[in-house]
Amino acid sequence: MDLFEYQAKELFAEYGVPVQKGQVASTPDEARRIAAGFAAEGKPLVVVKAQVKTGGRGKAGGVKLANGPDEAFEKAGKILGMDIKGHTVHTVLVTEAADIAEEYYLSFLLDRANRAFTAICSVEGGVEIEEVAHSSPEVIARIPVSPLTGVDHAKAAEIIAAGRIPERAAEAAATLAERLWAVFTDEDATLAEVNPMVLTPDGQVLAVDGKVTLDDNAAFRQEHERFADPGAADPIEARAREKHLNYVKLDGEVGIIGNGAGLVMSTLDVVAYAGEQVKGAAGAGGGIRPANFLDIGGGASAEVMANGLEIVLSDPAVKSVFVNVFGGITACDAVANGIVSAIGMLNERGEQVDRPIVVRLDGNNAAEGRRILNEAALPVVEQVDTMDGAARRAAELAASVAKGA
Ligand code: GDP
Ligand code: MN
Repeated sequence: MDLFEYQAKELFAEYGVPVQKGQVASTPDEARRIAAGFAAEGKPLVVVKAQVKTGGRGKAGGVKLANGPDEAFEKAGKILGMDIKGHTVHTVLVTEAADIAEEYYLSFLLDRANRAFTAICSVEGGVEIEEVAHSSPEVIARIPVSPLTGVDHAKAAEIIAAGRIPERAAEAAATLAERLWAVFTDEDATLAEVNPMVLTPDGQVLAVDGKVTLDDNAAFRQEHERFADPGAADPIEARAREKHLNYVKLDGEVGIIGNGAGLVMSTLDVVAYAGEQVKGAAGAGGGIRPANFLDIGGGASAEVMANGLEIVLSDPAVKSVFVNVFGGITACDAVANGIVSAIGMLNERGEQVDRPIVVRLDGNNAAEGRRILNEAALPVVEQVDTMDGAARRAAELAASVAKGA
């Protein structure tokens, strides 16, 4: 999960990484009120900053200085509602403006290839960092950090020196780096970036911008729910998560259910291919594509199958469903029984199972599984023996429903 700048800075503040005081506003009036608070403390100069989860806000006009509450009102009015790289600005951060003498760069990130971490540090920070990385990569230092020893003050000083941060800022920058490392490890982040890390004329070093990515795999041992962005979450994905299903919404028409992530991924490919063929044959525009990824795992009980079908069918874009199962430890007869009782369960719950379901069973005890489904003679279920054939049938059914046939 990526954090907004204001959330990253909340974490920074908790760990003693110096940041400017600030508050979030979602209307120009709120921005004015926040700026008035700073003005009353004798700090009329503020920065109004678009809160979107993408970089380059400054260049896009999403970061503006304002002198006093009225200007903050005006700048907030300009920035709220702006579109920055496809992200609509719903909130702005209003902070006291920092007096900037120099802008540096500092980050920690996970280095998967080397099973370690990397610190990146440079004296040339700010909005041109990509340009610098391109034109003079030698001024950007990359320092490996061992997960076993981490970053103590000596290591932090080594990182800061490698980034050629000048002597007058080095001690404060090393302290900031040590605390940023604590944010990075204690919060299970995969990225903690400060750009710019700023030196003020009076010798302070502070984080003027912050970018943090938290590792969702560590969510169970963290308290990160407070950072969740309910506005951004797909409602079907949220319900799937509640039911502990591995579901990702896509934007096609064929709902996909399979057992095992690898099988589901190849099912997506096969359905996408079949969708192209069907479209070509029909000569119609608008390809037929997978509507989701859903892996129900190895031991697919009737309950799990019912939950999976319910989630997939709750997506109104779904015109047909492809259930692709390769029987392993859970044999196909058990899965077939699962499908039969799942549809029974859904009907009992009052959920409409009203779209065609194409089932392909293969692997352990496939023949028995197919017999069970045939015997059940469910009107919405159609069996096809091969993965390619079933994908094609599901795509055809989706195409005919989509055309209203
Ligand atoms: P980004 O463009 O999304 O990376 O947003 P930043 O928060 O990094 O802001 C972009 C640039 O705006 C910074 O590099 C600074 O030059 C400038 N800026 C941001 N905050 C302040 C501030 O408090 N005071 C001053 N003087 N400039 C700022
Ligand atoms: Mn920045």
